[in-house]
Amino acid sequence: MPTRIEGLGVSPGTAHGPVARLAPPPRPPAGEQPGADPAAELGRVGAALEQVAVLLSERAVQVGGEAGDVLTATALMARDPSLIASVKGLLEQGRPTAAALDAAVESVCDVLAGLGGYMAERVSDLRDVRNRALAVLLDLPMPGIPHPGHPFVLVGHDLSPADTATLDPAEVLAIVTVEGGPTSHTAILAKGLGVPAVVQAVSAAGLTDGSTVVVDGSTGLVTVDPSPELVAAVAEQARVRKALAATGSGPGRTADDVPVALLANIATVEDARRAGALDCEGVGLFRTEGLYLGRQSAPSLEEQEASYREVLGYFTGRKVVVRTLDAGADKPLAFVDHGDEENPALGLRGLRVSWKNPGLLQTQLEALGRAAAAVDTEVWVMAPMVATPSEATGFVEAARAAGLSVAGAMIEVPAAALRASRVLATVDFVSIGTNDLAQYTFAADRMQGELAGLLDPWQPALLDLIAAVGEAGSSRAVPVGVCGEAAGDPLLACVLVGLGVRSLSMAPGLVATVRLVLAAHSLAECRAMAEAARDADDATSARAAVRALVKESVTALL
Ligand code: PEP
Ligand code: MG
Repeated sequence: MPTRIEGLGVSPGTAHGPVARLAPPPRPPAGEQPGADPAAELGRVGAALEQVAVLLSERAVQVGGEAGDVLTATALMARDPSLIASVKGLLEQGRPTAAALDAAVESVCDVLAGLGGYMAERVSDLRDVRNRALAVLLDLPMPGIPHPGHPFVLVGHDLSPADTATLDPAEVLAIVTVEGGPTSHTAILAKGLGVPAVVQAVSAAGLTDGSTVVVDGSTGLVTVDPSPELVAAVAEQARVRKALAATGSGPGRTADDVPVALLANIATVEDARRAGALDCEGVGLFRTEGLYLGRQSAPSLEEQEASYREVLGYFTGRKVVVRTLDAGADKPLAFVDHGDEENPALGLRGLRVSWKNPGLLQTQLEALGRAAAAVDTEVWVMAPMVATPSEATGFVEAARAAGLSVAGAMIEVPAAALRASRVLATVDFVSIGTNDLAQYTFAADRMQGELAGLLDPWQPALLDLIAAVGEAGSSRAVPVGVCGEAAGDPLLACVLVGLGVRSLSMAPGLVATVRLVLAAHSLAECRAMAEAARDADDATSARAAVRALVKESVTALL
């Protein structure tokens, strides 16, 4: 009898296969005795942490891109002098070696968890360092991705960045985790790899190695011991999906030829290199924070110019929308004065950082202006977290002064969506950041997994705000795009087009599917889908109402 496990679908697609679980993390042995010489034991812990740091740094180089950056940051945690100092103190109090390392890491985790947001998300990275160092100390197998010798569905409590970074999509059919949220490493990297993924599948903790499951990364449903009919349906869906995916190419458009630009989201030079090789119309969101994060001082004008030139160089003849620095909240910078903030997500973040640090924005715009002048790429620039028309005007003026002729604003604060018409009067384009727009509309922290339902981009209230921006865009003839996670959901992409959106920027791996689903529907059909979604009372019924309107020819892709 099949059993159903419900979770949250975060990377679309279906897969069928045997479960292989992540090797369990090692624990300090029960009854462990203290070592005779605390100094020698400290040396062993230091050597184990260093071995882990080297391993993570090597992997960072191997994988590159966003995943590589995460691994480099995790390697730094393994070399944190305050961690070693804390282990030293515990060893000198007579604690056994493995237990001392474990306790020292947990006390740092408590501090990080207390800080909330981005810092709290680092807890799983630090525990990953601890688990690996314990494996070295205790001479146990390194925890991580299993290699059963055949393709498998990876099941784990939560995946660390080190695990996800080395996943081989040819081996891993799907990912299911007990924890994790829609913006977790698992979700973002699985989407990038095109592997179906379900997170927050609490009952998946009971799955055993070798049991057979069907994973639906769109609905979040995991079926254990599936019926032969379901297995056949999944195989057929995979076949049709593959065949269909090979059929589309070129610029995005609806069935009646309304152009909808399909663009990639990137965060690093390596991302740019990979996305540049794909069939997409350019970049709709270049998150520039990667250049600044983890540094003690701001990158120089020259360094920035060189990086931007390299990124832009991968898109000759195409468009790149660059977002200026979106620091603060979940992305604090060591060298930026954010002030003393009780609620960083509601504080000096995004464009507001420039209020206290105007030089940062000026230097960035100047570097970008110089890079744009040196390449044959269409460069658009936009500011994050714009709340008022006057903020938009100020930004556009600063961009123009730096020689950037196309300047716009992200719409991710409800105030800007509510007064879209006035914001649009002052800019060349807008791009809706649905991740933050959902967070601020629903007063729901986007980092908090339990709030995923409120952050669902199918929420009709969010669609109402997008509609207001779409209408303002049509009446003012100002292009409106979406660059939040919503743009990569093929069904929702049709709804967005029906609401007036004319460019969609997403994880590069999702472009092909969105292109095909969009091409199967006319603008009038997209508008009917938008109406059906807005007519619903909640996200689930909005999704179901639109699903009922989808053309049969592309249902295998959803
Ligand atoms: C968004 O908020 O939707 C967005 C695209 O920006 P980020 O996810 O980088 O905050
Ligand atoms: Mg945002």
